[in-house]
Amino acid sequence: MTAAAGQEEQLWSRCAGCASLLYRKRLRRNLDVCPECGEHSRLGAPERLRQLVDPGSLRLLPDRIPEADPLNFVDVLPYPHRLTAARAATGLPEAVLCGTATIGGHPAALAVMDFRFLGGSLGAAVGELITRTAERALDDRVPLILVTASGGARMQEGALSLMQMATVSQAIAALREAGLLTVSVLTDPTYGGVAASFATNTDLVLAESGARMGFAGPRVIRQITGRALPEGFQTADFLLRHGQVDMVVQRRSLRGRLAALLAAARTGRPARASVPRQEPARHHERLVDAVPPAVADGQRPPTAAADDGTQPAVRDAWDTVRTARHPGRPTTLDYLDSVFDGFVELHGDRLGGDCPAIVGGIARLAGRHVMVIGHQKGHTTADLVARNFGMASPAGHRKALRLMRLAARLGLPVVTLIDTPGADPGISAEEQGQAAAIAENILTLTVLPTPVVTVITGEGGSGGALALGVADRVLMLQHAVYSVISPEGCAAILWPDRSAAPQAARALRLTAPDLCRLGVVDEIVPEPATAAHDDPAETARRLRAALLANLLPLLDVPPAMLVRLRRQRFRRFGATRAGNQAGAR
Ligand SMILES: [Zn+2]
Repeated sequence: MTAAAGQEEQLWSRCAGCASLLYRKRLRRNLDVCPECGEHSRLGAPERLRQLVDPGSLRLLPDRIPEADPLNFVDVLPYPHRLTAARAATGLPEAVLCGTATIGGHPAALAVMDFRFLGGSLGAAVGELITRTAERALDDRVPLILVTASGGARMQEGALSLMQMATVSQAIAALREAGLLTVSVLTDPTYGGVAASFATNTDLVLAESGARMGFAGPRVIRQITGRALPEGFQTADFLLRHGQVDMVVQRRSLRGRLAALLAAARTGRPARASVPRQEPARHHERLVDAVPPAVADGQRPPTAAADDGTQPAVRDAWDTVRTARHPGRPTTLDYLDSVFDGFVELHGDRLGGDCPAIVGGIARLAGRHVMVIGHQKGHTTADLVARNFGMASPAGHRKALRLMRLAARLGLPVVTLIDTPGADPGISAEEQGQAAAIAENILTLTVLPTPVVTVITGEGGSGGALALGVADRVLMLQHAVYSVISPEGCAAILWPDRSAAPQAARALRLTAPDLCRLGVVDEIVPEPATAAHDDPAETARRLRAALLANLLPLLDVPPAMLVRLRRQRFRRFGATRAGNQAGAR
């Protein structure tokens, strides 16, 4: 691969920290850390790798990236134009560079993100490359090191970019199971979907000096809360103080620290266990058949049959967004009353909180016990405020995690009902580790040895939705939406102003038929005309039928098989395109 851009470096550069004028060569010799004030400037992936690994030890993994524009996404520019520009500007094929190398003589697999490439955003290709690196680590039985630098998920790939959070997380889970060390090194900046997945669900999390990490970005938090942010908010030292990272490391010490950790992992490594590898597909084809796969491209999305046989008219994506947010729309507690029987609510995360935006507990579905966990909104302003508009805090995610694990221990299937604009983007949510809380839920769902069926009932907002949404079967009510970012948020970033939200809603492919076509959703639950809020009883009846039809076949699948099939489901989002390419090599 060609060297990174920036070849025509100027001779001098001004420090962003202290404004000193610095001789570039001297700055580079000092690892791009200002000798005057210690400011760590951002590094591209090639330079980062050069600094971290033993000279001559790096072997890049194949990085040929297929062209991917699954949504045919156009804002003011078509997405392929943005990709081409990013490639020209960085000399990189994508926003991550992956390889194997030694550090202090210890072998490791590394994936290093590059913020210069579309803000280090996580798309299907990036997710695929990091996943392959993790799989390489598993094959070679070496630790995995992830160096993160990202603004979050890549909006131009919609929900498919969201799915990458699960794909990479389950690869990390496989390394956990194999007793192999995973380390993430947070560099500046690490936000959004990357923060809420593989940046924080590794065994060890190191933060480089000067790095900032969080679920929600400071601008968003200020806008939403209207509050000034505390001094040093989301900085490495803040993260250390709030228990979110193992250590803060100066750039010049990073390589030595990693070498020491790799040495310890090597010493303590258990005798090579017979970790079951993925078996060839043939063995469980029958079960794959029993659990119907999502439709192939171009086919009509499967829809649970409505008794009246009506096929509702197609409506505009923006209308669907408004329907999904309708205050009369049935909530999780409504469904617990109408679809399920005998709900016993369980409270608390056992760590100091009970989040009202998530409700959960044991209930019966047609006589069978299940664990139901869902976001709770409300029908009145007072309800909505009391439930924080269905935006879960870290305590809410940890309560959900506790209930998922409890369900697995009790052998109860899990049903999750998703209806959230997104995870709580507040100051205290960040202090309490929102990103890591979401990341841990995602990873846990990829290994949970009990059936999981998810229904997106209203708004499926980003990482907060995925924290309950890594399931064997993902259902969606007809007028629900599921998106990596709100249309308003997307419009504010990619269009000149927020009034482009309706266009953004269309570009994001966030409706149930779109997501069925993309394989993100397995089945659409039809709503009565005109929508769920007009006939909640009929909606409940249809939801109950769809839940039973999807849950019952899963009950006979052995847990290990279930987990394997779930992982196949979430492995295919990057693999479908990138994997085909790999097969052609
Ligand atoms: Zn300086």
